[in-house]
Amino acid sequence: MRIFKIFLNDFRNFTALNLNLSDTVNIFLGRNAQGKTNILESINFASLGTARISKDTELVRWTQDAAIIRINFSKADVSHDLAVEIYSDKRRRRILFDGNAVKLRDIIGKLNAVMFSPEDLFIFRNSPAARRRFLNIVLAQAAPIYFSELTTYNRLTEQRNNLLKKIRENLASPSNLELWNEQLSAAAAKITSKRITAVENLNILANDMQQKISAQEENLSIVYEIHDLKNVDAPKNFDVEYLQNWYREIFSARNFTDIQRGSTSFGPHLDDLNFFINGKELRLYGSQGQLRTTALALKLSEIEMLKISAGEYPILLLDDVMSELDAMRREKLLEFLLSQKIQTLITATEKAYFPAQITGKIFFIENGALKFEE
Ligand code: ATP
Ligand code: MG
Repeated sequence: MRIFKIFLNDFRNFTALNLNLSDTVNIFLGRNAQGKTNILESINFASLGTARISKDTELVRWTQDAAIIRINFSKADVSHDLAVEIYSDKRRRRILFDGNAVKLRDIIGKLNAVMFSPEDLFIFRNSPAARRRFLNIVLAQAAPIYFSELTTYNRLTEQRNNLLKKIRENLASPSNLELWNEQLSAAAAKITSKRITAVENLNILANDMQQKISAQEENLSIVYEIHDLKNVDAPKNFDVEYLQNWYREIFSARNFTDIQRGSTSFGPHLDDLNFFINGKELRLYGSQGQLRTTALALKLSEIEMLKISAGEYPILLLDDVMSELDAMRREKLLEFLLSQKIQTLITATEKAYFPAQITGKIFFIENGALKFEE
């Protein structure tokens, strides 16, 4: 995956920006609030079809009606052109892939990018939803079918929840539940089985990265935690067929409880991830430095997984990562990116974070414009 050109029009604080990227490391330097993160965000948006924290309207330059992100890239050595138009007034968007109008779900998996930003550090302390989201994105990027399987599962959960409430109010018969339990268990089994496999792979890769960046001082292990496992018999394996039966029995056994609470009390929508450094639970005992290193190790293993499934690395977007790492870790990181030939965009406020001789390009960003490049 290579991005050749980025064109932004009225996106955030950029009136018009034209960039020709290097194949290796691209460094965006500038003072605070100049637009460095906005550039990374535009790529992330075009890749996922969604902004991490902002609404569409906030992405359009103030006083303007529409923003355009246009990215010229190659995937498996074939050139593509992706254009996303965002409108400030309505919740609609226009997406053109190689000149043809496509739906949002069709662009997922086209331009693969992975972004690291300072808020990723909160993944370890936020609610389980943030950790599920991380896993869902990893899986959806690796195989777009996961996204539709997850959508199906979420829809079925919602429908089952509606039925549970109706039964509670005597507006429906409990006998209707079995049909939903059947469908929901089939959908849940697919999700959980894929997640377990993904976590097994993540474990190997993320631990390798953690060791690399920490100069062999830290071991990382990741555990997929099935919600409320203490109250059910643990699954004997994670084959889809086995899990389907396992879920069906648990859903049925919980019919009565679920009717009372009016929602589905078991399933992958409640599962979580837990992280351990040298055997100790990261969220309880991890230092700031360990949290940072692990967040980065997760991102780097995410791109390794994408490389395995897609045959090439995604674009790596590193927002403000340098200021959080000591000199040794910064050096190890750059060494790794260059040796693996990963096209990377890094933002930083100081040139001093980088070696004097750096392979790649440096862009100086000032007040929503490219001042000059080196
Ligand atoms: P830092 O080093 O502090 O992270 P940065 O260079 O990454 O800074 P960005 O977050 O990319 O900064 O840009 C922030 C600037 O963009 C802010 O000044 C903000 O006011 C401006 N901005 C954000 N959204 C819009 C918008 N819709 N229209 C115009 N300007 C915007
Ligand atoms: Mg920034």
